[in-house]
Amino acid sequence: MSMAGLYRPPTAAAYRQERMSYSPFDVNRDGKVDFKDLKEAKKNLVRKLDQDGDGDFDINDLHAVADKLITRKKVCTKCGKPLKKKSKYQTGVCVECYRNPSDEERCIAITSSGARCQRRISDKSHKGYCGIHIRKYEAQ
Ligand SMILES: [Zn+2]
Ligand SMILES: [Zn+2]
Repeated sequence: MSMAGLYRPPTAAAYRQERMSYSPFDVNRDGKVDFKDLKEAKKNLVRKLDQDGDGDFDINDLHAVADKLITRKKVCTKCGKPLKKKSKYQTGVCVECYRNPSDEERCIAITSSGARCQRRISDKSHKGYCGIHIRKYEAQ
């Protein structure tokens, strides 16, 4: 029996080597970085950074990018307090505002005690129910 026919899976190192053999500048993935690739890579980068869309990345664009980074801090859309981290519920409001919705934002269901449901209307609801009452009153 010959050893030649035995299949050997590639080692992790060989796999890494294979992946690293492509440069991020090798846009057309032919294994070479040529002038065309570099031009294409530069165009992509300028497109990403060009804020005023004039096809070039200049000092004004640099200012625009810097301003964007500085003003990235988000504030609560209701009370204006800065949000500590990206709002957990993707609502853009802080935790306090989320937990204390105004009347228009509250579920229209009446609970067994006769009081209006205190929960926020689910954005999946068409009629105005919270995530719990939507299952009870609104057919999916
Ligand atoms: Zn708030
Ligand atoms: Zn409810």
